[in-house]
Amino acid sequence: MENGKVKAVALYSGGLDSTLAILQMMKFGVEVEAITFMTHFGCDATDSSSCGSDPYPAAEQFGFKVRLAHLGWKFVDIVRNPKFGHGKNMNPCIDCRLLMIGEVKSIIDMIGADFVITGEVLGQRPMSQRRFTIDLVAKECGLDGRLVRPLSGRLLPATLPEKEGLIKREWLLDIEGRSRKRQMALAAEFGLTQYPNPASGCLLTDQRYSDRLRDLLKYKPETDFNDFNLLRVGRHFRLGPQTKLVVGRDESENRIIESLMIKSDYHLETPDFGSPVGLLRGEADPDTMLMAAKVVARYSDGKSEPLLRVTLRRDGTEQTLETAPAAETELVGIRV
Ligand code: SF4
Repeated sequence: MENGKVKAVALYSGGLDSTLAILQMMKFGVEVEAITFMTHFGCDATDSSSCGSDPYPAAEQFGFKVRLAHLGWKFVDIVRNPKFGHGKNMNPCIDCRLLMIGEVKSIIDMIGADFVITGEVLGQRPMSQRRFTIDLVAKECGLDGRLVRPLSGRLLPATLPEKEGLIKREWLLDIEGRSRKRQMALAAEFGLTQYPNPASGCLLTDQRYSDRLRDLLKYKPETDFNDFNLLRVGRHFRLGPQTKLVVGRDESENRIIESLMIKSDYHLETPDFGSPVGLLRGEADPDTMLMAAKVVARYSDGKSEPLLRVTLRRDGTEQTLETAPAAETELVGIRV
């Protein structure tokens, strides 16, 4: 407590639930400072309503401070080896929450906060907001009872700030389940009109992205953020344990793929027809280069031609291969 004022630090995504959790505490005079975490997988999702929303509009409207922090490799480590397992796809939601709360712990003393709040709602998400998980996170997070969920707190055991009289039980709400009706009514009460639609989670909840990520981590354990970003675009093909081909699906993907090219990558295209950009990364012997050329030819405007030219450029050198486009059967087993 600073200057007689109770202070909380909030895990804040910019989504509806984490905003409401903050406003609910501010309503009773708690001073709140928010922290928004970012990861390389597209969102931070410290609440159930949204991932990766802009945290600033509500902060400006209601007058609370926001800090940004990137979880970097710490997050990648839990994606690889989550103590509490993955969800339906590669999303390690329980470990994710524990990591974020663990990071917040280190700034509690620094900013003189009394406890941490999150926008979790009991029963709203299958993995991270079941009763068992809510209790597990409270137990494992190392905050010794200083984790408060203002939106569902009345349904949960009393936390230390309640026992110490810093906050009252009646300040907490008893929202439960998947419906957002009560949150929307509460938003209207607070004058919060701009908030994002609920999102299903970060990129790690996406099956296609997760399949690609699993493949990447299997074949390239020493990966980097460029590889992660590349997983978001194009068609992906594994041409060998150390070799991947990515082929753009439209003009904007072609530009993104080009922007992610590194010096050792091959840039492929068909010079005589409208062409996707192909990016060949890793070890490439002549057979692999030919296969990559065939795949790029298949997705070009010359796909009906019996033979077409494909250029492969790398680091100032260029070679041209003549090939038939790959048949559908040749793609079976290499598509990721
Ligand atoms: S979906 Fe799960 S893993 Fe992804 S940010 Fe949200 S809580 Fe974390």
